[in-house]
Amino acid sequence: MRTPIIAGNWKLNKTVSEAVSLTIDLIKLVDKISDVEIVIAPVFTALSDVHDAINGSNIQLAAQDVYWEDSGAFTGEVSAPMLKDVGCDYVIIGHSERRQYFAETNESVNQKVKAALSHDLKPIICVGELLEEREAGKTESVIEDHVKGAIVDLSVSEMESCVIAYEPVWAIGTGKTATPDQAQEVHNFIRNILEDCYSDKLASQIRIQYGGSVKPENAEELMSQPDVDGALVGGASLDAESFAEIVKQSR
Ligand code: PEP
Repeated sequence: MRTPIIAGNWKLNKTVSEAVSLTIDLIKLVDKISDVEIVIAPVFTALSDVHDAINGSNIQLAAQDVYWEDSGAFTGEVSAPMLKDVGCDYVIIGHSERRQYFAETNESVNQKVKAALSHDLKPIICVGELLEEREAGKTESVIEDHVKGAIVDLSVSEMESCVIAYEPVWAIGTGKTATPDQAQEVHNFIRNILEDCYSDKLASQIRIQYGGSVKPENAEELMSQPDVDGALVGGASLDAESFAEIVKQSR
């Protein structure tokens, strides 16, 4: 059985004190839940304080990005050992906003995934098609390209530490959600890619999250699909009650 994983991507929101206060509110709402992995991803500046706030709770910490070099003349970047140092467990890699606005490519995603793994950070690898790609019937080829591009040269044990987030770009922050059938179809396709690249056993172990306007109103139906193992949540994760409700509906 795959343990569901619900991750909140707070994007570019919340000062340190706001992030800590949201964290404290969330801890109170989810403290009895042990059958779902709960992850929150604040901005870099809040990671350390949020890490202190989640100490002893059932919430884990993620960063929203990572650079592939450990240190050096790379102004503005943050490396995997630095994220580990402030207590991160996970790191989101290849989010569509990074691909769209910050020139993230399959190659850079792959370098970041390898850097994260080499410092014991678990990557949440984001893949997803644009609306025009879906309408042109290219969803599967885009997803295959993103998945295979992200996992180049990963060993079985490295792959086992990864989570994949299927996030159709047209559903992110738009209020338009993929239907449960649309999500299931792509999740199953991703599992088949993993089976081809690795094995049936590995493919059946990897968690594949859905992301794109997940809310308390649609979470249960999406997550009841056989290949949907949780959610990557943007907007609704900024509200403790909404996020906690999504966590509860994934059980
Ligand atoms: C996201 O940022 O990964 C996301 C899915 O955002 P939203 O839930 O707001 O669509």
